[in-house]
Amino acid sequence: MSHGHHADRDRSFALAQRAQELMRDYGPSATPRAYAVWYTYVAGEQPLLNDAIKRIITQNRGLTEHDTDELHDQYLGGRRLTSVAGETSATMLAEIETVMEMLDLSVGSAAQYSESLRVLSQDLSLSTLNRARLREIVGSLVATTREVAASNQVLEARMRESRAEIETLREKLEETRLESLTDTLTGLSNRKHFEEMLAKAIEASNQRAQPSSLVVLDIDFFKRFNDLYGHLTGDQVLRLVAIVMREHVSKDATLARFGGEEFSIVLPGVDRAAAREIAERVRVSVMGRELIKRSTGESLGKVTISVGVAAFRPEDTSVSMLERADQCMFAAKRAGRNRTIDDSAAPETLQDVA
Ligand code: GH3
Ligand code: MG
Ligand code: MG
Repeated sequence: MSHGHHADRDRSFALAQRAQELMRDYGPSATPRAYAVWYTYVAGEQPLLNDAIKRIITQNRGLTEHDTDELHDQYLGGRRLTSVAGETSATMLAEIETVMEMLDLSVGSAAQYSESLRVLSQDLSLSTLNRARLREIVGSLVATTREVAASNQVLEARMRESRAEIETLREKLEETRLESLTDTLTGLSNRKHFEEMLAKAIEASNQRAQPSSLVVLDIDFFKRFNDLYGHLTGDQVLRLVAIVMREHVSKDATLARFGGEEFSIVLPGVDRAAAREIAERVRVSVMGRELIKRSTGESLGKVTISVGVAAFRPEDTSVSMLERADQCMFAAKRAGRNRTIDDSAAPETLQDVA
């Protein structure tokens, strides 16, 4: 182990100890949530959390269970996304505040303008008005009008800037949201997004009596491939499978990698027969690709996949549907791999007899 690793380790234990001391002195109890809050506090990773804790302690001399829960949810739940969202909305608020200030300013000058007009019109009605005074009044009227116009122009330019800024922030937020749903290796959806989309498909099937299907696929003997050619080359195979999957599905399908070498396709509105066809096209297409190592031109042979297909049934939940698709996929493995089995197969085929 490297020296740096030891230093990290020492630091983390020191932080843990300090977190425990603080938890004993100020915390309500030693729950995992309280520990997470205090550990983050001593690590100083979330300055806003630290500020909030200091504020509470100054006021109340300690944290209650409720305080801990709130701090945890606000500062530690779904960490990365919340912190970006927090930053983004803070910037957006600042931006909006500036615009409001500009508006105040503009309202102020408009009020001033109408006041000048009132005074001038009073002057105009005076009988003592002479030529010189009239010129003076018109001159001042022109000057004030120009001022107001200029200030409106500044306001308009500033509003345009703010608009662009807010638009950029919105895009950044959307980007982060998508990132949190994407598997970085393949660019497919991750498990979290997959679960959302499967739940949606099931809900739609329940409400509109339309079919939906779930395809699960797993690479055959992938461990052997990794052992032979290395993990990095294995990762390229995962990317290839993702590319092939993309080639064979329509827009409303959700393609996901579960982590590892398991993939899935959620197919809303697609019945068993059509889902099976899609699965078969993916399987045959993967099998048809010869893998060539780019650096050396060496052929790495081919990989195959085993596929399970489950079609929605009225009593289905995400869990039951996924279980059935998995069962079919394992049945395909047992039956010799490189094949597709769907959930219309005989129960003996699907039962794990091994
Ligand atoms: P089977 O045909 O029964 O599916 O055999 P298998 O070897 O594919 O299945 P098993 O579940 O035994 O092993 C899965 C292997 O997948 C283990 C690991 O080497 C590999 N693997 C899992 N995740 C990744 C990954 O992200 N990248 C790479 N390169 N390999 C992975
Ligand atoms: Mg596997
Ligand atoms: Mg496998």
